[in-house]
Amino acid sequence: MAKVIDGKGFADRLCEQLRDEVSSLKQAHDLTPCIAVVLVGDDPASHVYVSNKVKRCEQLGIESREHRLPATCSADELIGLVAQLNSDPGVHGILVQLPLPEHLDENAVINGISPEKDVDGFTLLNTGALAVGQRGLVPCTPLGSLMLLKDQLGDLSGLNAVVVGRSNIVGKPMASLLLQENCTVTIAHSRTRDLPGVCRQADILVAAVGRPRFIKGDWIKPGATVIDVGINRIEEDGRKRLVGDVDFDAAQPVAGAITPVPGGVGPMTIACLMYNTVTAAKASRGLDH
Ligand code: NDP
Repeated sequence: MAKVIDGKGFADRLCEQLRDEVSSLKQAHDLTPCIAVVLVGDDPASHVYVSNKVKRCEQLGIESREHRLPATCSADELIGLVAQLNSDPGVHGILVQLPLPEHLDENAVINGISPEKDVDGFTLLNTGALAVGQRGLVPCTPLGSLMLLKDQLGDLSGLNAVVVGRSNIVGKPMASLLLQENCTVTIAHSRTRDLPGVCRQADILVAAVGRPRFIKGDWIKPGATVIDVGINRIEEDGRKRLVGDVDFDAAQPVAGAITPVPGGVGPMTIACLMYNTVTAAKASRGLDH
């Protein structure tokens, strides 16, 4: 049976280290890392995500400032707020919670964030930096997934990695990170031919599809390390539950190690947001992370 990778435990340990680091930054440099979170509209899921992020900040001693705008706000208002946060030296990270209401252009808003405060790693500059292997802020979910993989496997050089999904926030940056780690990387998507066959080549299989239990047990190479990024809300046997993109029960007897849902990649995403905020705060003073 595959080892179940404890993402929650890893995230908790990372957050403990960050809490110590935040406390020494305060003492040694009079620096309190601060993230501004911008929430537009009343999407209930977005409210839950934001409140989880704010709670984590409190636990770590990171300052968080919430800015709420109505769903009817104009692009100028939102971009104006982002510009104001860009020029505020007390703010080190800016997060605009997605999705935005339809009348707002997400790309324009995200690219309005100063790259050095872009703790989600979504701006064109940080995206480009990752693609060419330069330093920048890296999207949180792929960064957290890579941390789990390196903790599990150590050196990833030469391993075959298959990433299923090519979104800008998960699939593509994940593939770039794995390439930097010297994996041989395949990106699969909805037009991929013989997806089961492609997945069976993977020593590392990352699923970021958004379809419940999509990856079957017999698609997995025996002993492979499986990172399940998917978070799908389903109703089963009359109760609501969260499941991943991998059929966990079928995958566990085949894989070498696998992340559960919940308790795998999810907690790493928030922990890496904290990590990026501390990184951005330190960089604002020329301190290395
Ligand atoms: P997107 O919907 O943006 O991308 C999904 C990708 O899956 C697309 O590239 C799509 O291909 C591909 N895909 C869809 N159907 C198939 C198929 N039948 N065969 C092969 N590929 C397919 O999703 P995200 O990347 O934003 O998110 C993916 C999952 O990860 C979701 O469940 C989301 O909830 C979860 N997530 C979890 C996070 C966490 O913290 N753990 C954070 C972010 C996301 P194509 O491009 O061809 O359409």
